[in-house]
Amino acid sequence: MDGEVVYNAPVKEAILYSREGERVRCRVCPRYCLIGEGKRGWCGTRVNKGGRLYTLIYGLVSSMAVSPVEKKPLFHFYPGSKWISMGTYGCNFRCPGCQNWSISFAPPPRRGIFLPPDEVVRIARRYGCLGVSWTYNEPTIWLEYTIDCARAAKEAGLLTHYVTNGYITEEALDLIGPYLDCYRVDIKAFSREAYRRTAHIEDFSPILRAVKRAKERWGMHVECVTNVTPGFNDDRGQLSGIASWIRDELGREVPWHVTRFIPHHLLKDLHPTPVETLEEARDLGMGSGLCHVYIGNVPGHEGENTRCPGCGLKVIERSGFFVRDYRLVEGRCPNCERPLYGRFPREYGRDYTLWEGYEVGIV
Ligand code: SF4
Repeated sequence: MDGEVVYNAPVKEAILYSREGERVRCRVCPRYCLIGEGKRGWCGTRVNKGGRLYTLIYGLVSSMAVSPVEKKPLFHFYPGSKWISMGTYGCNFRCPGCQNWSISFAPPPRRGIFLPPDEVVRIARRYGCLGVSWTYNEPTIWLEYTIDCARAAKEAGLLTHYVTNGYITEEALDLIGPYLDCYRVDIKAFSREAYRRTAHIEDFSPILRAVKRAKERWGMHVECVTNVTPGFNDDRGQLSGIASWIRDELGREVPWHVTRFIPHHLLKDLHPTPVETLEEARDLGMGSGLCHVYIGNVPGHEGENTRCPGCGLKVIERSGFFVRDYRLVEGRCPNCERPLYGRFPREYGRDYTLWEGYEVGIV
């Protein structure tokens, strides 16, 4: 561990709630939990004490590492860059196949590792990171802390992003929006039934509205991910629904990652997604007009590479989390000069420190 302070995390008053008699209504995510005295909200991280809502996870860090942007996955946002990646405890979903269930299903511990925002900035700088990524568990429920951290990071010249399930209210998004550069969002499914089974929510339309708002109102760079899971969301109807929605509402240039499900937790008896299913999903997405559909969790697959949508030239070659070859010139294809969607360095390998190829665990 590095530079951390270990003691009881401070309990901080929440910033988005209303009083309804003795109960309080949390307005951070569209569950809008109505929380009685002494009780916690659905995510287990917010408690009503005496008619005030408090967050129990401000500054409480469960995990922290230096990792590559490709791991998020983000393929059009400073390729090869390294990021301080951090998470806390809890989630506003309960996906049965969650790969980080040991922290996302866990209530906040009474004692833990507390990192104030300026310490996060110091660690990011010390490791030569391009920015701070809130990931591992759902950053929306960490709203108060991520706002403070993101503000400190921006003041220090660092970049920021959420790796999120997108289940956030518009007013919460508008609080973090000014400080976020990038929004890597899951679109887990495209039917009420599938979202009910995976995330235990009845209506996924707030997720779609939030992504659009992140991109249009706040100018964030957006990439979407669907973890294609056998029997949950691998039917053509849902996959083509997601692809068409991205094309029509976000734009055909926005990348869509279709990633391989690896059995975890309550779904450990399922088999991994067949590669052919991912290839069909990719064909379906490209056929519907998307410019960039990537296959994830299949290292070495051709579907990891970026091709110019204009002339088809391979402009970024990857293997797993590694960038093997980078040919863009100031974000444009070197052959036909077509600009690609995203944020790219002017001089690759000079504008920022590239990931060295191994993860550095900090917490
Ligand atoms: S953030 Fe937590 S407490 Fe607030 S509405 Fe969502 S699930 Fe409920």
